[in-house]
Parts: sequence; C-alpha cells; structure tokens
Amino acid sequence: MDQAPFASQWDIGDDDHPHEECGVVGVWGSSDAAALTALGLHALQHRGQEAAGIVSLAAQGQFHAHKGRGLVGDNFGDAAVIAALPGHAALGHNRYATTGETALRNVQPLYADFEFGGFAVAHNGNLTNAHVLKRALVRRGCLFQSTTDSEVFIHLIAISLYSTVMDRLIDALKQVQGAYSLVALHNGALIGARDPLGVRPLVLGKLATGGFVLASETCGLDIVGADFVRDVEPGEIVLIDDAGVRSVRPFARPSSPRFCIFEYIYFARPDSIVEGTPVYDTRKRIGAELARESGVEADVIVPVPDSGVPAAMGYASEAGVPFELGIIRNHYVGRTFIEPTDQIRNLGVKLKHSANRSMIEGKRVVLVDDSIVRGTTSRKIVEMVRQAGATEVHMRISSPPTTHSCFYGIDTPERSKLLAANHDVAEMARIIGADSLAFISLDGLYRALGREGRDPKAPAYCDACFTGDYAIALTDQGDPSERPLPLLQVANR
Ligand code: AMP
Repeated sequence: MDQAPFASQWDIGDDDHPHEECGVVGVWGSSDAAALTALGLHALQHRGQEAAGIVSLAAQGQFHAHKGRGLVGDNFGDAAVIAALPGHAALGHNRYATTGETALRNVQPLYADFEFGGFAVAHNGNLTNAHVLKRALVRRGCLFQSTTDSEVFIHLIAISLYSTVMDRLIDALKQVQGAYSLVALHNGALIGARDPLGVRPLVLGKLATGGFVLASETCGLDIVGADFVRDVEPGEIVLIDDAGVRSVRPFARPSSPRFCIFEYIYFARPDSIVEGTPVYDTRKRIGAELARESGVEADVIVPVPDSGVPAAMGYASEAGVPFELGIIRNHYVGRTFIEPTDQIRNLGVKLKHSANRSMIEGKRVVLVDDSIVRGTTSRKIVEMVRQAGATEVHMRISSPPTTHSCFYGIDTPERSKLLAANHDVAEMARIIGADSLAFISLDGLYRALGREGRDPKAPAYCDACFTGDYAIALTDQGDPSERPLPLLQVANR
C-alpha cells in the first residue's frame, strides 16, 4: 500500500497520497481461479473501491494480468476479461480510495520477473519504514516503477542473496516494519503472510474441489463456497501448492498479538467472522455496552447507516427503546469520507443520507454511529435530524474518541484534523450540535470484545487510534533526514 510518509495521509494532494485499507484474495488449485478471485474481491469491495487487479498463473509459468480503476464489477464483470486470465492459480487486490486519481501503475497486484520466474504480490496494510528502505534501495540502483510502499517487497526480494523464493521473501519480511497481510504468487506456490503482530486480517479457506483460498475476511471465502479453515496467524507464512498447505514461522509467536480493533468497529464486513466471532455480534455487544455506559432517556434509537446499524441494534435492545431506520442511506454514492474538500464532503453527506421524517418528528432521538473522525458526518446528520423535527438529538459512538492517526493501514487524517485530538467531549457535542455526546470507554470496548478490560501492559489489540500506543516502530515518522528524496517525489507524479 502507499506509504504515509510524515504527516497526513489525507494532506498529500496529489496522486501519491497513500491508500491504506485494501482487500486481498488468492486462489490455488482451481481451473476457475481468476473467476473465484474476482468473486472474492467483489465480497471484499468495502475494503477498497478505487481500483482492482488480478494476476493469474497459467501452465508453464505464464502470468496474465488485468487491472483497472473502479469497482470489481466494472473491471471483471465481462466474461472475456476472466477468460483472458487462465490458470489454476490467481491473486487479486482491491485498492482503497481517498482523494485524487490513481495511476494505473500503483494498482496491485504488483508483478516482477526474477531469475526464478514471475512473482506477483498484493498487500493490505502500511509499512512504517518504507521510505527509509526505499531510500536505501534507490541508492543501490533499484528503479521503482510505482509509488506504493508495497513495491519495497519486490526490490528486497530482488536483491536478496538467498536462493529460494521463500528464503528471499523471509529476508524481505525481516527488513520491513509495519502492518501487512500479503498474498503472493510464483510459479511453484501461493503464499500468504501476516505481520508479526497480526495487525491486518488474513484467513485461509478450502474449496470443495480441493483448492485453497486466502482472503482478507471470511466473507471472501463464503462467496466462493470455500470452507473456513483458520486465520493465518500473526507472523506466519503459509505456503500453498499441490502438496497442500505448509506453515513457516520466521518470527517468534508474539506474546500479545495486536489485531486492529477498528476492523471490529468499522472496517470488516458484519458477516465476516473474526477471531471466531461474527463481527455483527461483536458490534451489537459494543452497542449494548454503550447503552449501559451512557444511556439517556429517548423515544427512538436511530443508526447512522450502514456502519452504525449493528451497534444501534445492540443499544436499542439493551435500552429497551425502539430501533428505527430514521435515516435512509442512498447506496449509489461513494463514502463521504473520500471527498477531497470540506465543501464537497458536506454535499456528499447530503447526497448519501436523508432523514426519514415520520420516524423522527417530535421524538427524542439517540443517533448511533461507529466513529467520529473529523466530525463532518456527525455535524450534518445531527442538523438533518433536527430539521426533520426531532425534539432532542443525542449522539452515541461505538468507539472511543479517535485521538491519534493510524499508520498501520486505516486511512485517518493527521492529528490536527481529528476532532477528538483537539476538543473534549463537551466541546465536541457543541461542535456537532448534539444535546449530548458519549463514546464507549476503552474498557467497555474491551469488555464487549470478551476481555476483562484493557490491560495497558498487554493490550490484546492495536488500539493506537484511541490511545496513541503504537506497538510497531514509526520509523518513517522519525528522523527528518530520512524523509523521501525530493527526486523521488517528483518522479512519482
Ligand atoms: P467524519 O465525518 O470525518 O467524522 O467521519 C466519520 C464517519 O466516517 C463515520 O460515519 C464512519 O463510519 C466513517 N469512517 C470512519 N473511519 C473511516 C475510514 N477510515 N474510512 C472511511 N470511512 C470512515
């Protein structure tokens, strides 16, 4: 994924801005490998809507590729495109959109020819030392073709002195820092890898016909009828070939893995199973905990759709107050979050949500959403609900305040743009225009996730966006002398 060099991922107003969330899929051992990969990507469309790509591996080690901007259906809906991706193995990637246009060369999977044959890689996550590595690699003569930090993997593999593909990959993984779930394909095998702390998700499934599937989430397995086998473990590499699945563990098992807590709150699809629990159930439990912590007298509980729906259901059932769809979402517009300017973003919110007046008028309304980032959505929604005749509007958020930027793969603006980094809850309530505002506590969130509460000495998740506890070094953020060479920035445009 593209790298957030030093400040905001959102502030880089050009093609080089980073894109962090993403979906990956890999299939081995099916004559329909490319079609299954396209279906898997379709189920993972929520993880990235900017671009999609598939690389397939045909007989005699021939690779085929198709990539394009836009949705999976736009690029792979045509049978002729799939037919041009022959082979028993394939790899796919969905790219996340923020602002601006994407150069096609940044669309994954990335592909390179090595002395050992072709190699394709697709990456979900964000490397935190990519610029330091890139600088060193460029000095050694490596010629970067894209501006994605994922290309670092390709060059590290290319210059590795080890002989086997696996040893070269391990050599590369030992040099990168950050969060990664990656799927790679070469002549002999499909490979899946998760970073040592397991920040980003990756699951393994089995097809009834005997082949295997790797996907960012279980919904990517369900769509192709693959049975869930297990999560790829933090720090594990799985190697899939005609002999089956082998596990390689180049890293020590972490005493405390740090899966991204925001996947539970917002990012994963609600029908996905994470750590053995449906995300949907978890979100309902978070909503119930929120109601216990900060219930308020109300006539109706209204979710901000779609992300607030399961939490609002949990809240309503715990509070014993009716749940109603008081806001209707138009599904034919993209996420408001991706709009480039405040003016357009405001317009985007109006395009996306409208008040269902009959459910709101004359009522005390509790609105439930998953997060407040800049506060743009909340401000607009509160105003809209008031205009529709609500007598009181209370906002309840199923995450703690987002006070810190994410450098591990969730697209968040720099701290100065995060509402909660600059205001206390009372000020935030005033800014968004709500009668009251409450966030779930960090302990409440951990309880809803089945933990006693948060143990600061051994947090079970990566919760840096709520705590500033960054478990993986932020090397690129550190020494200004390590900032990217100006030459690279120019060359990247
Ligand atoms: P904001 O309007 O800036 O406060 O953004 C908050 C809204 O954006 C919430 O309704 C979330 O559902 C959604 N959201 C939170 N994080 C992200 C993200 N990383 N990408 C896209 N949307 C997000």
